[in-house]
Order: sequence, then structure tokens, then C-alpha cells
Amino acid sequence: MTELTIALTKGRILEETLPLLAAADLYPLEDIEKSRKLTFESNQPGVRFVVLRGVDVTTYVEFGAADIGVSGKDMLLEHGGNGIYEPLDLGIARCQLMTAGIKGRETPKGRIKVATKFVNVAKKYYAEKAQQVDIIKLYGAMELAPIIGLADEIVDIVDTGNTLRANGLEPREHIADISSRLIVNKASMKMKHAAISSIIEKVASAVALRDK
Ligand code: AMP
Repeated sequence: MTELTIALTKGRILEETLPLLAAADLYPLEDIEKSRKLTFESNQPGVRFVVLRGVDVTTYVEFGAADIGVSGKDMLLEHGGNGIYEPLDLGIARCQLMTAGIKGRETPKGRIKVATKFVNVAKKYYAEKAQQVDIIKLYGAMELAPIIGLADEIVDIVDTGNTLRANGLEPREHIADISSRLIVNKASMKMKHAAISSIIEKVASAVALRDK
């Protein structure tokens, strides 16, 4: 029996992930959304689910505490992807990582202040543009930073753009297209190859069928 731990996050992504896992004959024995528990048995012996904050999924998978996970590409870019394979784009929770600033206001010349929770992504992005920046780490409500004068720009997730517009901001530059990915610990992929590749194949077929 292969023991497998699969890391998931609650919310919209879970809702769209569960049907894909079900195609690999994998489902939790309890309703994850309705429980406060953090670990859940599955219908398959030896396979369990753990429910984490999105930002922690890459860490659990990197260190092999979870063999498989579902993570946003934004989290993977920020994490750097060390020790992690990313074999499958699930095509869910699509959005974009963008820069944004106050509508109609030009970004000042010279060194600018950028507020974001994606510190590594932002550093890399501005370095590639040869733009000097001071990065300010925030944990939420990034849109507030330019309004209050904490930052000239933000780097954030944009879906419809409604949140930016509602706060008098405008999207500026596109950094990356984001969607949720199936990720696998590199050592697990070797040690538990048969079990994991079977899951990847079945989930990939379910994604292909859904997108047909
Ligand atoms: P919107 O107003 O539709 O542009 O949505 C923007 C906000 O929703 C962002 O600040 C994010 O916090 C959140 N959001 C939207 N889509 C996603 C996603 N796929 N993954 C994570 N956060 C998202």
C-alpha cells in the first residue's frame, strides 16, 4: 500500500479540484468545507488529504510532508519551485499577476515603492526592467497602499479588475498568467512513482475532458 498525502486549500479552488480528483477515484470521506479538521481520510487506504493555507501548500510539498498538492501558480512563482515538480495545469482559478497604481497618475521617475505580498515575484520583475524599487511586504488589502501613500504601485492578483476599479486604481503591466497547478514533491515522484503517475494521468484526462 502506498501512503500518500495530498495538500489542498479550502474555498473555490477546492470546489473545482474535488471533481478532478474524483476522476482518479480519490475523494475525502467527509465534507472538507463543513469541517474544522485539518486532515481527512480518503476512500483509498493509505491516502489522506491535508487542508492548508494556500501559501503553505508549496512548503509542505517542497519538504515532502505532502507528496502532492494543488497550488496557484502565483504561490509557485513566489516560492521559487525548489524541490517541486509541476506536472499539470488544472486550468482553474485563472487570473493574472499585475502591477497597478492610482488611475491616471504616472509612476514617479526614479526609485519607486511597491507594496505586495509577492515580494520575490516583484523583485524579479522590476529587476528585469532595471527599475529600482523598495519592496514593502503586505499580507492583505494591497489596494489601500497607493491610496494612503504607502506605495507608488502594487503587485497583486487581478481577475475582473473590479477590486482595483472600486479603489480608484488601474491595472498597468501584466506579469504572469495564473491558474492552479497539480504539484508533486520530487523525491515522492521517484519513490512512489506508480501511484503518483496514475493520479496525474487520470486527473489530466479529467481536465482534458472538462475542456473539450
Ligand atoms: P477582481 O476584483 O475580480 O479583480 O479580484 C481581485 C481579488 O480577488 C484579488 O485581490 C485576489 O485577492 C482575489 N482573487 C481573484 N481571483 C483569484 C485567484 N484565482 N486566486 C487568488 N486570489 C484571487
